[in-house]
Amino acid sequence: MTQHTDVVVVGGGQAGLAAGYHLRRQGLDFVILDADPAPGGSWQHMWDSLHLFSPAEHSSLPGRHMPAQPGETYPGGGHVVDYLTDYEKRYDLPVQHGSRVDAVRRDGGRLQVEADTGTWWAKVVISATGTWSRAFLPAVPGRAAFAGRQLHTVNYRSPADFTGQRVIVIGGGNSGAQIAADLALDGQVEVTWATQRPPRFLADHIDGRALFDVATARRRALEEGPSDTGGVASLGDIVAVPSVRAARDAGLLVAKPMFARFTADGAQWADGSHTAVDAVIWCTGFRPALAHLALLHLRSARGHIPTDGTRALGEPRLHLLGYGDWTGPASATLIGVGRPARDAARQIKALCARN
Ligand code: FAD
Repeated sequence: MTQHTDVVVVGGGQAGLAAGYHLRRQGLDFVILDADPAPGGSWQHMWDSLHLFSPAEHSSLPGRHMPAQPGETYPGGGHVVDYLTDYEKRYDLPVQHGSRVDAVRRDGGRLQVEADTGTWWAKVVISATGTWSRAFLPAVPGRAAFAGRQLHTVNYRSPADFTGQRVIVIGGGNSGAQIAADLALDGQVEVTWATQRPPRFLADHIDGRALFDVATARRRALEEGPSDTGGVASLGDIVAVPSVRAARDAGLLVAKPMFARFTADGAQWADGSHTAVDAVIWCTGFRPALAHLALLHLRSARGHIPTDGTRALGEPRLHLLGYGDWTGPASATLIGVGRPARDAARQIKALCARN
């Protein structure tokens, strides 16, 4: 099956849907190809106890407020899936679920988008594939020798999978802190938390709302002149969501400096001591999922594709949306992706009008 359209959006998570909302407003013809068989992007794969770090009214995509979740200040992951499912339907966005894009190629004046469900020719492609499918694991000596279970954040579901076991959680970011807290509060799991650097907790009153305000202030400062406020990173790394706060206050969330090497049955620390463990959970982050763009040869040595806003510098018919601050301030958040999606749709409208 081959088809033509103005824009192919690759990925139907929150970034792809925000793009769809603004492409519709610009009157463009488009399709959204999404590898997942169901709506919700990566939210449908997150662990059971996950809650947002912002209240619902600060976690909305353009056009439609996320309704509050009864009884919860910070909505759970399932609530986000429901919201995105409803969003897709409400705006009648043309999402083809179960459609994985393998490659994007230049083909004369068009970009050819090859999916496992068919081939599309588009004037412009928006890539919005997120990072969830590219889990990152750093090199640690002896890793291959460890005989226990090794999981990444993407595989973690709940403490019930580790009852009676000894677990090391690696990583000093939000995922590491939240998963270590989840396991520690359960009381049935012996948890050790290992971090490369001492964990930096944000003050308790700072949640996603304040982070978004700080990111916005930084963008404005950078737009107005050379001064850089330092942005979100200057405040700390870990949002003290209720579970993290509870575990920290109970003395259950104390990090040890990262161990020196794996052994067959555990970890050996820098001082030579040893901890036997059954499982290791790597909460060590993600990389952007850009393999489908490899044939365009746009990646820099850092692994990113250089952009001006969302537009790829080396290919003006390609936009990248939602991957992180390099594709728009706070663009990897629900509330932050709307603005770069709007700007991208405006630029794409102008480009399509010329072609
Ligand atoms: P995704 O949600 O990952 O969606 C990408 C979509 O693209 C998927 O549906 C996937 O199937 C599809 N796809 C991938 N590759 C292909 C391909 N080749 N072809 C076709 N389709 C493809 N943000 C907040 O605003 N508030 C929070 O509280 C918050 N908490 C977070 C907690 C955790 C643990 C994590 C990991 C992130 C959190 N975020 C939060 C950040 C952010 O909202 C998410 O990372 C968000 O899911 C990114 O959305 P996305 O649409 O870019 O990517």
